[in-house]
Amino acid sequence: MHSEKYHVVVVGGGPVGAVAARTAAENGAKVLVIEEHTQVGKPVKCTGLISLRCFEGVGIDGRVVLREIKGGFLYAPNGERLCIEAKGPKILVIDRAGFDQALLEKTKNVDVHVKTGVRAIGQNDNILTLMDNGYKRTVQAKVIIGADGPCSRIAKWAGLPPLKKMLFGLQVILPYKPEREDFLEVFFGKEIAPNFFGWAVPAEEGLARIGLATDDGKKMRSCLQRLLTRFSGNILEYNVGLIPLGIRARTVADGIMVVGDAAGQVKPTSGGGLYTGITCAKMAGEVAAKCALNGDTSKEALSEYEQRWRSLLERELYFGMLAHKLLCYLSDKDLNRIFKIMDDPEILEAIADYGDVDYPSILAREFIKRPRFWGRLLNLLPSNRIVTGILDFFKPSKTA
Ligand SMILES: Cc1cc2nc3c(=O)[nH]c(=O)nc-3n(C[C@H](O)[C@H](O)[C@H](O)COP(=O)(O)OP(=O)(O)OC[C@H]3O[C@@H](n4cnc5c(N)ncnc54)[C@H](O)[C@@H]3O)c2cc1C
Repeated sequence: MHSEKYHVVVVGGGPVGAVAARTAAENGAKVLVIEEHTQVGKPVKCTGLISLRCFEGVGIDGRVVLREIKGGFLYAPNGERLCIEAKGPKILVIDRAGFDQALLEKTKNVDVHVKTGVRAIGQNDNILTLMDNGYKRTVQAKVIIGADGPCSRIAKWAGLPPLKKMLFGLQVILPYKPEREDFLEVFFGKEIAPNFFGWAVPAEEGLARIGLATDDGKKMRSCLQRLLTRFSGNILEYNVGLIPLGIRARTVADGIMVVGDAAGQVKPTSGGGLYTGITCAKMAGEVAAKCALNGDTSKEALSEYEQRWRSLLERELYFGMLAHKLLCYLSDKDLNRIFKIMDDPEILEAIADYGDVDYPSILAREFIKRPRFWGRLLNLLPSNRIVTGILDFFKPSKTA
């Protein structure tokens, strides 16, 4: 059977696949992207929050930016709230479908072939079987990049180790008049979002994205109903999606790489995968092109990608996973207590100044540097649960 030949075939035309493909083509490779949906970026399964750093790194124009966010109201389980306000915008709210479309459109400037409505249904060495308009056909690739999301088939076919944990995300679009147009709201508590958090994010004029993520799929709908009692208005849209936490122990095999959600490159503190996935996609694209053009696409050669992304992000993702474990451990009473302790102008200012959604460990390091905060944190001591949780937090763990 005749099959087209490419240096690199990227499975998945999401933001991570688009950036991996563009980078591979910029580095001299002949690249194909296949995306199973005919409409790129739809259905949306995202709140669309990204750092300025992430947006500036993708080189698309500002039309997809809906809002700049300067701060947030954080709600404890008992309803007490903290207000954190940075001096300038730190996060953007984007039109996520428009973002995905702009990124994929940009690949065409570097002659990437993009096929939508085409699904990868099988893989054997360097041959991918595709379902295209009801017909099976094959393509050959020196390197296959799996950017096919949290349920990655490429990772499964390559026999890569599993993701550690999956969260369920459920979000609705509601009419909404925010107290502050440049603030988001975050809700903690086992009743609202067991082991994660809920959110309300102002988006298009007069609308908000309100949702939650949790590791308890059975409670997801009842939790959302509880969260929605805080808001009024008719639901205009539902979005449901999975958020993988905990990176795969290996992300390359002979002739294959996985990247983005497919690799578990998601921040466990926020569930955000755009910055981490796109950062890793650039490395994947560079290494894939280099290896495909050199003719050595063995696991050993492709592991340059694995080494590079791990040296930049593994510690951060490991830290995030420990923080997530701690959140899972804490009861609502513990969280209320932590909120009370954090309600200190100096602590809130430090969070506003040093909080970085892409690198949350920067803030933790800042806290450790300030002996004045240690006294506040010592107030946690009477609560055995919190102390045990913190000790557990520092125990060596294999769950990054
Ligand atoms: C409710 C929710 C809210 C979120 N909010 C945020 C947020 O605010 N900020 C943030 O940074 N992240 C957020 N995320 C996470 C973010 O959406 C993901 O990390 C991001 O989409 C990962 O991009 P990706 O390209 O790796 O995967 P995806 O966006 O999932 O793209 C994978 C693509 O592969 C295609 N595909 C899959 N299998 C095949 C196949 N066999 N053949 C062809 N195509 C295939 C799919 O159709 C899809 O288009 C959220 C997630 C959820 C669920």
